[in-house]
Amino acid sequence: MSHDPDNGPFMVVVVEDESDIANIIAFNLETEGYKVTCVDRGDHGLTIIRREIPDLVILDLMLPGIDGLSVCQQLKSDPMTRDIPIIMVSAKAEDSDIVIGLGLGADDYISKPFSIRELAARAKVALRKSRPARHEVAEGRMVFDELVIDAERHEVTVSGHPASLTVTEFRLLQQFAENPGRALSREQLISQALGKDAAIIDRNIDVHIASLRRKLGKAARLIKTIRGIGYKFTPGRRTTPSATP
Ligand code: CA
Repeated sequence: MSHDPDNGPFMVVVVEDESDIANIIAFNLETEGYKVTCVDRGDHGLTIIRREIPDLVILDLMLPGIDGLSVCQQLKSDPMTRDIPIIMVSAKAEDSDIVIGLGLGADDYISKPFSIRELAARAKVALRKSRPARHEVAEGRMVFDELVIDAERHEVTVSGHPASLTVTEFRLLQQFAENPGRALSREQLISQALGKDAAIIDRNIDVHIASLRRKLGKAARLIKTIRGIGYKFTPGRRTTPSATP
């Protein structure tokens, strides 16, 4: 279904200045269980999307403030937002813009007038891509290729060999595992992975990551550095068995 039990409801931002269309989209996606935020200007859309980092953006092309193509371009050129799938919504006359949008990295498009069923189906496909599903073997246990994280026992193995992590390293890895495919800033990692203890922990997160990578051996490739931003966990993309239509 549209609800991902591991990460809460999917968040969708709809950037559309025609309120009737925005309302219909929002109503239908909310019925599917998504959390929907509507914005009626391109510039406001950018602000909200950068702040919320939603799972999906539905983007009209003709917008006040900044047009949809510019919004798309800015989102796709920023490491923090470029992995958020974008479905462009266009009037027929804007078909040439669709081609440009796809070239900029938009994931899909739909032409007005569209059926809401069609849009919901496209949204589902895009969301499946946005949260590469991890393969759960059992409660509290996450498997990414050769890497197995047992949250309950605080155990990590790589190709069956235990990796002995510090509490900080374990929390960082857990944070990565819960956000596959997401760019995480150092600040996010510090506050989300380390929480209340952040104040008393060495803020040089890079040192912890370097040590974590060393201990993960060949699974270290799953943690990618994003220059100037932070890090991203990039396991192989899989589909959840329960997510098939
Ligand atoms: Ca419009």
